[in-house]
Amino acid sequence: MTAPLLGHMMDVPLLVSSLIAHAARHHGNTEIVSRRIEGDLHRYTYRDCETRAKQLAQALIALGVEPGERVGTLAWNGYRHMEAYFGVTGFGAVCHTINPRLFPEQIAWIVNHADDRYVLFDLTFAPLVDALAPQCPNVRGWIALCDESCLPAMKTPVLAYETLLAAQDGDYAWPLLDERSASNLCYTSGTTGNPKGALYTHRSSVLHAYAASLPDSIGLSARDAILPVVPMFHVNAWGIPHAAPLNGTKLVLPGKDLDGKSLYELMESEGVTCSAGVPTVWLGLLTYMRDAGVKFSTLQRTVIGGSACPPAMLRTYEDTYGVQVIHAWGMTEMSPLGTLAKLNWEQSQRPPDARRALLEKQGRVIFGVDMKIVGDDGRELPWDGVAFGDLHVRGPWVIDRYFRQAGGTPLIDGWFPTGDVATIDADGFLHITDRSKDVIKSGGEWISSIELENIAVSHPAIAEAACIACAHPRWTERPLIVAVKKPGAEVTREALLAYFDGKVVKWWQPDDVVFVDELPHTATGKLQKLKLRDQFRDHVLPTAAAASEQCPMEPLDANIDAHAGGGAHPVKSAATPD
Ligand code: ADP
Repeated sequence: MTAPLLGHMMDVPLLVSSLIAHAARHHGNTEIVSRRIEGDLHRYTYRDCETRAKQLAQALIALGVEPGERVGTLAWNGYRHMEAYFGVTGFGAVCHTINPRLFPEQIAWIVNHADDRYVLFDLTFAPLVDALAPQCPNVRGWIALCDESCLPAMKTPVLAYETLLAAQDGDYAWPLLDERSASNLCYTSGTTGNPKGALYTHRSSVLHAYAASLPDSIGLSARDAILPVVPMFHVNAWGIPHAAPLNGTKLVLPGKDLDGKSLYELMESEGVTCSAGVPTVWLGLLTYMRDAGVKFSTLQRTVIGGSACPPAMLRTYEDTYGVQVIHAWGMTEMSPLGTLAKLNWEQSQRPPDARRALLEKQGRVIFGVDMKIVGDDGRELPWDGVAFGDLHVRGPWVIDRYFRQAGGTPLIDGWFPTGDVATIDADGFLHITDRSKDVIKSGGEWISSIELENIAVSHPAIAEAACIACAHPRWTERPLIVAVKKPGAEVTREALLAYFDGKVVKWWQPDDVVFVDELPHTATGKLQKLKLRDQFRDHVLPTAAAASEQCPMEPLDANIDAHAGGGAHPVKSAATPD
């Protein structure tokens, strides 16, 4: 066989530094506006950002940081964090964004596992740094993101960021690095056990930034102003700090105040057209807007992901506020973007209910990501919107192993098993029904906790709801709804249970409802179902008590027909697609 003819194109590496260099050169006057920890609104341009990122690179080199070494950040969304994204990675070091909402012991574990050389931190985290420093002996220095005059009294000796930058002139040329070298490091929030590090490359970050920019993806342009509510310490704020400079998009960084009023006011004053965040923050914003009786004047669209977007939220955004919701799915291990729900021409001609049903799903993969669902036997399942199985993905911004983790690759035949359970329909739209460990198995058949949660929160009196598996003597597990009522609203347990009638098959309907004041969330705003399951471990379902009285010896039965009411059921099927 003859060798393939190689093309004659330049082999220019894809580097993160090229994103900020491009923005500085071609969108030099476009603004980055930040709500600072100091309380004021800071404004400067991409040109300023690049210069200061270069000063940071020079400062870190002067401190002895070598390419390949990790520099941690404990910071909100702000311009200095943005400088770290480029200043650290630009000379070949790795920007390790740390989630400050984790427990201090977990953070110390992560800092030590990553072997961070220096850690940059916002003043909010000074007490945290004092708690961490004695546990992290390999960190050479802690750098406060402020000037000398703002340095708080701390036990830990710290350096002032602005003093370090002031000593450098910014006359620095970004070096040409190997595009496969590591650029950023993020640890998963640990909802699935110990935190695990996803180590991105320059190449994967730039390709992901292109993917995020596509019109049917987040779809950024130089006419947009984007406010990422999703934190820069969580999967690189879904790639927005990379995609915004690629497109010359104005960036509005909200700092630490993510309550509805603060977000709304910033969106209005800065002409924000696009935003992105998890459902929990939108709950706060929508509640504020309803109570204050205000509307958006510039916001056109918002990306909602990280957890399933409840259809009720999608409806409120679109019908009440005229804002397009882009439901998206992804994960730390995928940089994170995988799928987004946007309709093609033909789908947008369908009746309104059919259009909405599609938009409520997690959507179609972006070019670059490939996905499939597999059954327990590993065989691929059909894309019929009914069969559900384990979701596997692959692509150039999907990890092939975790950082410094023994035990080899998690891949199965070259695919990354996401741990999510999903259906894919004939339109190619993904629908996440659960995380594999959150799935409720009633009599051997799966019930989607997400679907039941969505129904619960569509009730006018319910603010938030979690659906968890509760032990049942006959069916092994049955669904229990744990719900938070809206302030001042009333609904009884019986009324909420009755609300499920006709919305799902009878045997999917929850067995019980418990009202609580608050639901536990993870550091990234997801429902902490593990904690809830612990909390309700001994909860006795009324149906369980009845079942034990009636049939104490009855064997566990996997026959779905035995479920009360029966009805159509999305059975896991081992069939392969045609
Ligand atoms: P972790 O919580 O594991 O640290 P990530 O923040 O990376 O990690 O979360 C990824 C997980 O979040 C996905 O595997 C999926 O379970 C869930 N997720 C993300 N987006 C959605 C969505 N739109 N709908 C339902 N689940 C989602």
